[in-house]
Amino acid sequence: TVPLSLFVASVEQAPIAISITDKKANILYINNAFTQVTGYLAAEILGQNESKLSDKCTPRQVYYDLWHTISRKQVWHGQLVNRRKQGQRYLADLTIAPMLDEHGAISHYIGMHRDVTQAH
Ligand code: FAD
Repeated sequence: TVPLSLFVASVEQAPIAISITDKKANILYINNAFTQVTGYLAAEILGQNESKLSDKCTPRQVYYDLWHTISRKQVWHGQLVNRRKQGQRYLADLTIAPMLDEHGAISHYIGMHRDVTQAH
C-alpha cells in the first residue's frame, strides 16, 4: 500500500494549482503550484474565499452555473478570468469537484486550475 505521506507529497508537488475549500469556498489548503500561479502564500490566503482570485469581470451566469453544478455533486469545468496577488490578470482553466463524506453529503470542494492565458 502507498504511505499517506506519499499522497500528501504528490498533492503538494502536483504541477497544477490545487486548493481544498469548505462548502462556501473558504480556502483550507493550497499546494505549491497554487502559490506559483496566483502569487499567494498559504499564510496570505488560507481562510479567505476563492472569490479573492476573481477579476470581477466574469459574467455572473458563469458563477451561477458553477455553483448550480457543484452543489448537485457534479464536477464543473470551465474558464474564469482571475487576478494574481500582484494584480496581473490571467485566464484560469478550472475544474471543481465536490468531496463527499461517509453519508454522501458534500463536505468540501477541491479546485484544480492552470493558467491558460498563453493558449489564447
Ligand atoms: P459570490 O458571492 O460568491 O456569489 C456568486 C453567485 O454564486 C451567487 O449569486 C450564487 O448564485 C452562487 N453561490 C455563491 N456561493 C454559493 C454557495 N455557497 N452555495 C450555492 N451557491 C453559491 N472563483 C473565481 O473567480 N476564481 C477561481 O479560481 C475560483 N476557484 C474556486 C474553487 C473552488 C474549489 C470553489 C468551490 C469556488 C471557486 N470560485 C472561484 C468561485 C468563488 O467561490 C466565487 O463564487 C466567485 O469568485 C464569485 O465571487 P463573488 O464574490 O463575485 O460572488
